[in-house]
Amino acid sequence: NEALLEVKKLKKHFSLGKGTVLKAVDDVTFHIKKGETLGIVGESGCGKSTAGRTIIGLYDRTEGDVFYEGKNIHELTGKERFAFQRKMQMIFQDPYASLNPRSTVREIISEPMEVHRLYANKKEQLKRVYQLLEDVGLNRDHANRYPHEFSGGQRQRIGIARALALDPAFIIADEPISALDVSVQAQVVNLLIGLQKKKGLTFLFIAHDLSMVKHISDRIGVMYLGNLVELTASAALYKNPLHPYTQALLSAIPIPDPDIEDNRERIILKGELPSPINPPSGCVFKTRCPLVMDVCSTIKPEWQEVETNHFVACHLYNKSRASHSHHSKTMV
Ligand code: SF4
Ligand code: MG
Repeated sequence: NEALLEVKKLKKHFSLGKGTVLKAVDDVTFHIKKGETLGIVGESGCGKSTAGRTIIGLYDRTEGDVFYEGKNIHELTGKERFAFQRKMQMIFQDPYASLNPRSTVREIISEPMEVHRLYANKKEQLKRVYQLLEDVGLNRDHANRYPHEFSGGQRQRIGIARALALDPAFIIADEPISALDVSVQAQVVNLLIGLQKKKGLTFLFIAHDLSMVKHISDRIGVMYLGNLVELTASAALYKNPLHPYTQALLSAIPIPDPDIEDNRERIILKGELPSPINPPSGCVFKTRCPLVMDVCSTIKPEWQEVETNHFVACHLYNKSRASHSHHSKTMV
């Protein structure tokens, strides 16, 4: 099961003028295997949406590389890029803003097919629209209606149908359920899981909290201030979080089983999230980390595989500093 997508030391910086630089994405490395769902979690402003948009090529990258099926997506020619769009699609957070209010559902779903001239025959194209509506749990009677006639959950289904119109292999879902009522969030997640099985899709699923990605993700990555700080299999992340930031995030999620006594200590992070315009030197998490050490101020922790398939960027697990980290851990 080889990697479909590889992201290597990706950076996306925005120049705000007068030498001010916003380091939205500063150090992100991971791969996604075919048919897998990778969840990316982090609080708002951590750069997860920017990472998604850079990975799909909506933004050019500042440094680093993104390979899809071994091809560097930021080095494609215009023609290659156009063809490539069919393989990679995006589902957006806000199903209200992302659908043109003056277009019918049929027009919205047909548009990508028309741009890519998928069907010479209008009848065939309409058949495909009906099929896509069924795939997302709507029906052909919805085709001639407008977005405002639908609920938030239904609109997100329309957005999903549009993303599927070109029969992509890889989908980036940027907080697809965050704007929806809690009662419909699970329905949309289940729809995505069903579509993945049926169509063999690969997902990058972006969310702002760990409870939202739990049921859909095979592996989960945690982002903080433009940096990926931990990544491993979902079960391992919940059972054995290594990065102090992940530990804090998990301590804030209630244990879902009422029969299990929840006597974990809630880790409250001190201070505010620093600005990505002037991020801390050394470890980006040092200003809020309960386990901060001297070395954290000066040296940026490297992204390393500290256990099989468990990556973390934190000096506590740096093998070459093992004695140092052991000392600090026992002190806390
Ligand atoms: Fe905390 Fe240091 Fe690890 Fe950063 S490197 S998370 S400051 S212990
Ligand atoms: Mg976002």
